[in-house]
Amino acid sequence: MRNIRIVRPLVPDEEKFFGYLREIFDSRVFSNNGPFLLRLEERIKEYLGAANGAAFCNGTVALMVALRGLELSGKVIVTPFTFPATVNALQWAGLEPVFCDVDTETMNITPETVAKALTPDVSGILPVHVFGNPCDVVGFGALAEERGLKVIYDAAHAFGVEINGEPIGNFGDITMFSFHPTKLFHTGEGGFLTYKDSVLDGPIKQLRNFGIESDEVGTTMNGLNGKMNEIQAALGLCLIDQVEKERYGRMIISAMYVNFLQDVRGVKILHIPQNVRRSWQYFPICLPNRNYIFEELKKNGVFARKYFYPLCNEFKHFKGSVENTPNAKDISNTILCLPLYGDLGIRDVEFICDIIARGA
Ligand SMILES: *Cc1c(COP(=O)(O)O)cnc(C)c1O
Repeated sequence: MRNIRIVRPLVPDEEKFFGYLREIFDSRVFSNNGPFLLRLEERIKEYLGAANGAAFCNGTVALMVALRGLELSGKVIVTPFTFPATVNALQWAGLEPVFCDVDTETMNITPETVAKALTPDVSGILPVHVFGNPCDVVGFGALAEERGLKVIYDAAHAFGVEINGEPIGNFGDITMFSFHPTKLFHTGEGGFLTYKDSVLDGPIKQLRNFGIESDEVGTTMNGLNGKMNEIQAALGLCLIDQVEKERYGRMIISAMYVNFLQDVRGVKILHIPQNVRRSWQYFPICLPNRNYIFEELKKNGVFARKYFYPLCNEFKHFKGSVENTPNAKDISNTILCLPLYGDLGIRDVEFICDIIARGA
């Protein structure tokens, strides 16, 4: 019996990682701006083409800090078609999420759907580059400028994504990346913020460290502990060297999926434009009998995921209704993310696609 999970996280070269661990043990520096953290931050900024950046213990906490760092208030417009962390972070930052609908083709919220939900008490927009498919970043930039809004992107799925060669983190005020093991690049748990405006560097790093201004002055902001530790950073320094190979492997596997599934009746494959350098986060398809296929795959040891079902505006602790977001509702009821990782074998891809083709 096969046991195929949605992703298979990268593991580091053991000799290299154990060497780093020994350095950490010898120095006894486990956290607080240690040498591995500082090295990793430089590497990630370089990889992402970002002028400024900060690493975090996870992406959710990074997002909370981003929202506080921009001093948002009142309401923030967000997509319901996302992992609940996106919307939870808003509430933890004392903000009220307002949901708007997504586009049926891109699965992302758009300047048009956001504009419809705009009221005077909205201070920001939190779009998600779902499955690494970039939002209309130019349109959001124009809307934000016109209406005086901040834009924070959730790029948890979009590590290393570029539009016409322009890094995804260069759009909006702040962009959040997640380094969870389910993502293309990971640090066990981890997250990262990039931001063009260097003025944000101070507040973001202060919020990450309890809000402490200095030992003498104490805390001058309502901060939290968002620090990434040295073991996470050491893992990241190993894995960053393996990302290009993994990215390439996922591209090949995705091409095989497309080849097997493009002519299967009822199966719709997410189209991402040619000018986008992709992160290959999952292989999402939509199909009318999604629940049946999901169960058939499971019976055969293939664990696909219904990302994102249920929608966030179905959860009782958020105000909203799926009836207000019909496109998101349709996608959520038909979406299925297939396993995708670099060393998924061609036989396995064939096996998965056979089950889908028989049942679709
Ligand atoms: C993974 C993910 C997050 C949360 O990131 P963590 O690092 O796990 O906290 C947020 N948003 C989206 C869209 C994600 O997929």
